[in-house]
Amino acid sequence: MLSPHLHFGEIGPRQIVAALNAAEPGPGQAAFLRQIGWREFSHHLLHDNPGVGIVSLRPEFDSMPWRDAPDDLRRWQRGRTGYPIVDAGMRELWTTGWMHKRVRMIVSSFLTKHLLIDWRLGADWFWDTLVDADWANNSANWQWVAGSGTDAAPYFRIFNPIAQSRRFDPAGRYLRAWLPELRRLRSSGIHAPWQAPVSALADAAIQLGVDYPRPMVDHAAARARALEAYRTHVRAVTGADRP
Ligand SMILES: Cc1cc2nc3c(=O)[nH]c(=O)nc-3n(C[C@H](O)[C@H](O)[C@H](O)COP(=O)(O)OP(=O)(O)OC[C@H]3O[C@@H](n4cnc5c(N)ncnc54)[C@H](O)[C@@H]3O)c2cc1C
Repeated sequence: MLSPHLHFGEIGPRQIVAALNAAEPGPGQAAFLRQIGWREFSHHLLHDNPGVGIVSLRPEFDSMPWRDAPDDLRRWQRGRTGYPIVDAGMRELWTTGWMHKRVRMIVSSFLTKHLLIDWRLGADWFWDTLVDADWANNSANWQWVAGSGTDAAPYFRIFNPIAQSRRFDPAGRYLRAWLPELRRLRSSGIHAPWQAPVSALADAAIQLGVDYPRPMVDHAAARARALEAYRTHVRAVTGADRP
């Protein structure tokens, strides 16, 4: 949780690197240094591309036919998508101004790929709500996730919110902390409540669509829609199958 302190200049990256160099060698140092490197990279990107928060670094993505879907955007902002890991992250963000990086990647991928909503609308929301909101880091990371950045995650890499949730929060502790309505659901069902047996939902006193939303899109269908939209657009603009 150094990012707000770095953003507001309470500590500088050189101080962090000096402290790391002076510390006893340990397994996390190189990984931690790499994260600081990402920050430096984002700031260099902003320096060389002042429009990075507004214009896609790969220009072909600026004419991408994003969906104009204000209701869907609102559901994402308020943590009502029906995907627990996305909703937990968005509610944590709204309540505290914080979200872990892994969850930032999942929710931003969900907005740009599953919902096909312009990355700038997601970046705007983060800008308004994150306690570490930073023009360089926010813009570069949103572009990375959307596939329009410099070293972009290729557009065909789409985070699976259910698999990510199972992998990084296997016991569902994070989900229960932010989604009180799912608190009584067992770990096996909490990552995708609509796939849980009816008896498990009944035992947990959850009525899907009433207590907690059904998924606003089907994962497989949304993934296929995103791939098709991105592929068709990139091919139409550049003539290439892949960026
Ligand atoms: C869609 C999206 C939006 C983001 N918006 C912001 C933002 O507005 N402000 C912000 O500071 N970070 C942003 N990040 C990057 C990253 O999520 C945060 O810097 C990190 O989660 C902060 O937690 P930490 O200090 O515990 O990080 P640690 O993992 O402990 O890393 C230490 C420091 O390295 C830097 N860092 C780590 N990862 C990144 C990264 N991917 N890009 C740039 N710098 C990084 C940060 O300064 C961070 O404080 C965003 C990531 C995504 C996926």
